[in-house]
Amino acid sequence: MARRRLDLTFPPRQATKPITYHLVKDFDLTPNILRAQIQPGQEGRMLVEVVGPREAIDAGVAFLEKEGVDVHPAASDICLDEDECVTCGLCTAVCKPGALTLDSESKALVFDKDKCVYCEACVVACPRRAITLTF
Ligand code: SF4
Ligand code: SF4
Repeated sequence: MARRRLDLTFPPRQATKPITYHLVKDFDLTPNILRAQIQPGQEGRMLVEVVGPREAIDAGVAFLEKEGVDVHPAASDICLDEDECVTCGLCTAVCKPGALTLDSESKALVFDKDKCVYCEACVVACPRRAITLTF
């Protein structure tokens, strides 16, 4: 089984199509939508993690591209304003997947993108507003 995170951009005419339904039904993939900004008649964005055999993921991506969806590896990230961060660790306490940790030696904040589910709990928890989530 492979796991891939994809950043999808939908043209306005595709924004309300049941794309994830096709990934499940036609390609036997398990999609997990992490973030989505979709409005009828407007360009849409979706960050989705798909799990399944590597060939099935490749076929699913080819299907999406054929449907006019722009597909890129997920590049969403967390931006940390180091001038504002006081390494209090509050964000690490609310990060359930363990994507944010404090390095035991340097005490620097460490972000593991592969564990992040883009829930924004850290953004809300930070008293210094030092974290921004880009998508
Ligand atoms: S909660 Fe904010 S100030 Fe505290 S460690 Fe996290 S980013 Fe830094
Ligand atoms: S967005 Fe959620 S999962 Fe990602 S680092 Fe912040 S708290 Fe953790």
